[in-house]
Amino acid sequence: MAQMKTTMQTDNMKFKRFTRKKFCRFCADKTDFIDYKDVKTLKGYITERGKVLPSRMTGTCAKHQRELTTAIKRARNIAILSFMEK
Ligand SMILES: [Zn+2]
Repeated sequence: MAQMKTTMQTDNMKFKRFTRKKFCRFCADKTDFIDYKDVKTLKGYITERGKVLPSRMTGTCAKHQRELTTAIKRARNIAILSFMEK
């Protein structure tokens, strides 16, 4: 029991350290379409290993998260982004 509490506290601290202000950047910019050629934006939503970051981490809303995923997949297909980075 006591151990569980400790783990939870550590998780909380970890979360706090890496947390950002949560809001959907695309809603804030009133973006309707996420450009798959916009590598700068897309790179902000993938990990250094090339995985898509979950919306619960980035704060992106469901609608834009969907579009973002599509955009990233498109970018991968035309080799702008890599599927997997070392
Ligand atoms: Zn949004």
